[in-house]
Order: sequence, then C-alpha cells, then structure tokens
Amino acid sequence: MSTEQNLSTPSGTEVSDFIRDIVISDLAAGKNDSRVVTRFPPEPNGYLHIGHAKSICLNFGIAAEHPGGTCHLRFDDTNPTREDLEYVHSIQEDVRWLGFEWGTHQYYASDYFECLYQFGIELIKAGRAYVCDQTAEEFKRDRGTPTIAGTPSPWRDRSVNENLDWFQRMRLGEFPDGARTLRAKIDMASPNIHLRDPGLYRIRHVVHHRTGNQWCIYPIYDYAHCLSDAIEKITHSICTLEFEVHRPLYDWILNQLSVPAHPQQIEFARLNLSYTVMSKRKLLQLVEEKLVTGWDDPRMPTIAGLRRRGYTPASIRAFCKRIGVTKYNGLTDIALLDYSLREDLNKKAFRTLAVLRPLKVEILNYPENQIEELEAINNPENPADGTRKIPFSRTIYIEQDDFMEVPSKKFFRLSPGGEVRLRYAYILKCENVVKDSEGNITELKCTIDPDSQSGGATAGRKIKGTIHWVSAPHAVDAEVRLYDRLFTVEEPDGDKQGRDFKTFLNPRSLEVIPSAKLERGLKNAIAGRNYQFERLGYFYLDEKESKPGAPVFTRTVTLKDSWIKPDAIPVEPTAKRQ
Ligand code: ATP
Ligand code: MG
Repeated sequence: MSTEQNLSTPSGTEVSDFIRDIVISDLAAGKNDSRVVTRFPPEPNGYLHIGHAKSICLNFGIAAEHPGGTCHLRFDDTNPTREDLEYVHSIQEDVRWLGFEWGTHQYYASDYFECLYQFGIELIKAGRAYVCDQTAEEFKRDRGTPTIAGTPSPWRDRSVNENLDWFQRMRLGEFPDGARTLRAKIDMASPNIHLRDPGLYRIRHVVHHRTGNQWCIYPIYDYAHCLSDAIEKITHSICTLEFEVHRPLYDWILNQLSVPAHPQQIEFARLNLSYTVMSKRKLLQLVEEKLVTGWDDPRMPTIAGLRRRGYTPASIRAFCKRIGVTKYNGLTDIALLDYSLREDLNKKAFRTLAVLRPLKVEILNYPENQIEELEAINNPENPADGTRKIPFSRTIYIEQDDFMEVPSKKFFRLSPGGEVRLRYAYILKCENVVKDSEGNITELKCTIDPDSQSGGATAGRKIKGTIHWVSAPHAVDAEVRLYDRLFTVEEPDGDKQGRDFKTFLNPRSLEVIPSAKLERGLKNAIAGRNYQFERLGYFYLDEKESKPGAPVFTRTVTLKDSWIKPDAIPVEPTAKRQ
C-alpha cells in the first residue's frame, strides 16, 4: 500500500500513465485514422462499484482528453441468466453521476447477436470453427493442463456443411441446454489454454431481458467481446490484467474474420481496496442474504452506496487519479479514498453544530427568556458561503463526552469548576453536577463569562478547549447513523485459512443514535448537500430514510482517520478544527 506517497499527487494537474502514452503515440503515428474510441463494457448483472469507477474514469477520461474522442457505454448482456433491467438503469445513473456522458454512444452486445451468428458461419466456412457434441465434463477433461497438451474432440473434423447444418439447428432450438457447442478450431497443444479450441457458443433456453426468446444460443464472452469492440470500431480496448492471457484469442478471432476494425487490447491492474470486497457476486450475496439493506446500503463499496453516504463524484474522480494506472496488482488502502473525500468535503461542506449524545446544561446567569442570535461561519474554506445566525439561550446541550467529572490529565474540556469555550459563544464554567438516584449525570448547572463573547472585554481570554453546543429549545431532533467499515480485516476476500469473506463482517459497522440534537438551521437541511457537524465529521441527509419532521443523517466520514480508536472525538485543542 502506498498511501503516503500518493497523498502528494496534485489534484489539479493532468496525469499520465502507460495507457495514455500508448494513445498519444498512436495518434502521433496516425493510427486508427487519428480517432480515439474507448468503451466501458459493464455486464448488467449488478450495481457498479468503486473498482468500476477506476475503469470509467480511465475510459471516459482518455476519450475526453482528445478532441473528437468518444467513449461508448456498452452493456455486455450476453449471459441472460443473471442480467436485469434494474442493473442497466443503475449503471446509467452511476456513470452520469460520476460526471461522464456517452451521448449517442450507448450499445448493447445483444444488438449484435445476428451479426455474431453470421461471423460464426464465416468461421465455419473458413474451417476455423466446428460444432462439438462433447459435454461440459468431457470438454474440461480433454482440455489438458498448462503442461499437458489437450486431446482433440472426436467432432473436430466434421465437414463444413455438417457444421453449418448443426449450427443452424442449434439456433433453431432443436437441442437441449448444453447438448452442443460451437468451438473455435485453433490448437489443442497450445501452451495457452485459451487457444485449445475454446467454446464460442452455448445452448441456453432462457429468456433474455432484451431479445426475449428470440435466441437459445448465446455467445461466450471472449467471442462476443472482441467482435463487439470491432463492430464499434473501438481503437483501444482497455481491460483488467486477468484478460492478458485472453489477448491471443482476442486477436485470433479478429484475424480470421472480415471485421471493420482490429482494436488493440491493453490491460491494467484492477483496483483492490482494503476492508471491502469488490466482486459483484459477493456483493449480491450480501444483498440477497440481507446482511446489508440493499445495493445502495451506505456501507457498500457500490457507487450507489457511496452516493447515498455522501461521497462526492469529485472525490471519487480525485481518488482514481491518485491511484493511477499500472500493470501491478496491489491492495489500495481505503484510507486513500477517505483522504480524497475529506479533501473535497473540507472545501465544500457547510459547517453546522450538532450534538450526538446530549447532556443538558442550564446557564444560571443567563436570563430566562433571552435569546441571542450569534454569528457563525458557514465555511471557513469558502468565504463566499457567508455566515448564518445561531440561537443561544439559557438551556443548551453539549456532548456527553465533553464533560468529565474527574478529568484525566490531558482533558481540556469541561469538568467541575473548569472552563471551556463554547464555539461562536461564551466561556462556560461548570458550577454543579446534577445526578439521578442511580448516580447518573443528568444535567450540569453552569455560568458564562458574559463579556467573553466575540467583541467583549474578555473575549481574548485564553481557554484550552472549545466545544460545540446546541440551544435546547431550538434544537432539531434527528436520528444519526454512524457507519463504519463493513469488514474488520484488510482482505476479507483472501483469507489464508480459506474462511468465507462473510466471517469478517464488522458487527459494529452501524451505530444508530436515535435522538441527536441539531442546530436550528438543519430543520431545512438540503438533500444532496454535504454538512460538517463541527468536531464530529461530515454528514449527509439520508433521503430514503428521512420522513417529514424526522430527518435521518448519515455520517459520511469522520474528520480524521479514527479506525484505531473507533469512537474517538478529535482530541484537544479543538478550536483549530473548523
Ligand atoms: P466483478 O468481478 O465485480 O463482477 P466484472 O469485471 O465482471 O467485475 P464487468 O461488469 O464485466 O464486471 O466490468 C465492467 C468493466 O469494469 C470491465 O472492463 C472491467 O475490467 C472493469 N472493472 C471491473 N472491476 C474492476 C476493478 N476492480 N478495477 C478496475 N476495473 C474494473
Ligand atoms: Mg466481467
């Protein structure tokens, strides 16, 4: 993991990497008629996750960096058993939300089914493909191993006419699932196992979400993908490293056929992020087994989950820029994502005061019915956001953690007889502690220094700690949800003892605070706006869970990385943190 060195990557400057270098040198050499066409080809069998964001930023990013460059959004919908329209819509929404646009270039691999079938016929006629009657088990058995050559199928030398007939009958639905396949005729002794007569078509009597029951044979990924790229005249087909060994097959297929273009496949390392899983199959398990509330659960690494939690598109793009594009597989520290998030939120978030675990304070020397409107700064990082008024009154709430009856040595907040500064307001002194019959603290009786407010005679008096507060009669009640990492270990996916990833789910990934007290203005909190609750973190209105008069806020991220001490509120002095 390389968090430290990456933190210095300036967010404004353009990045370069080996793929961008290839594109630039291809343009300089006049390749591809000086076009740049990339594609993002998700399979609509789940929601997009942060790993997909890396691919989106790369493909759409490269297209945007060159005049006339385009990036196609192609739904790779060749496996009808797992695909769904809901996923198509979520993918469109997520790509747009990330800030990218495909314009008129939206395609479906299923639109090419007829064309792909015709290419199958062309391969058969050229003696490069045959219909094989082997079962899946026989196919596997005869494929060999990396060191032992495969055994040719008994059906390998069928005549062209016979193959054409069988292939057509496969299409017409004469055979049950799995009875026959169309296979490429390449080399059963090839050291590359993907070239040992790989399957191109299989029989599946299932309804497709777009083509209905028009087809009962479906193309295999390796066959459909290179041909879809070629049909769309993609110039650079960028994929993850595990497809490097498939590249000879990609090129072989295109070399046999009269395709309009031969795109160049380039591989890069996929994003692996610590403390999470990224496979759609595993994310689907979490959803189906109700271990999370859905694909958009704020703990999920999905784009929908991150969005609902309050991540910004800019922070995700900045993260993708920071991690760069290489050929080396590694594990990226999730702290780097949070770093990019904090960097963006620090610039954008509206500062507010909110008390999560309230402790009532009565100010004995403050008049009963007096209310003052004090000035507070909305965002010190962005003066254009201006100021607002916050009410101050005789009864306020402070955070339970900001009071210690017997203070430890380094505790600079409130304690009996001690003083603390109230943010934007007075210096507060604790005179008395009120307890119930069981000895629990229920209230503090305090006084203020009446001249210590901004502009007052003692305003400059040095006080070590500053704490946040909310005026009790004006407070807005809210539920606040504190989310934490979904898993307790760095690599839930790669356990050395082979334990299931779900073993490592964090039982404390959600803490619900039922009755927090928020500053008055948050009654009109705006959905889609990022707020900072001063000293506590960044928060976001959960539109899905909020009801009129009963807002629910989600903690997007803490102000500092608090994983080591999960409940830690930033330590004193706190006045600097705004
Ligand atoms: P998963 O394993 O999560 O199901 P996938 O690769 O099967 O992922 P696709 O829908 O096929 O999912 O992915 C669309 C594109 O996103 C592909 O080009 C793929 O290479 C890329 N992609 C998927 N996961 C990552 C990742 N973790 N990092 C970078 N790119 C990724
Ligand atoms: Mg895939």
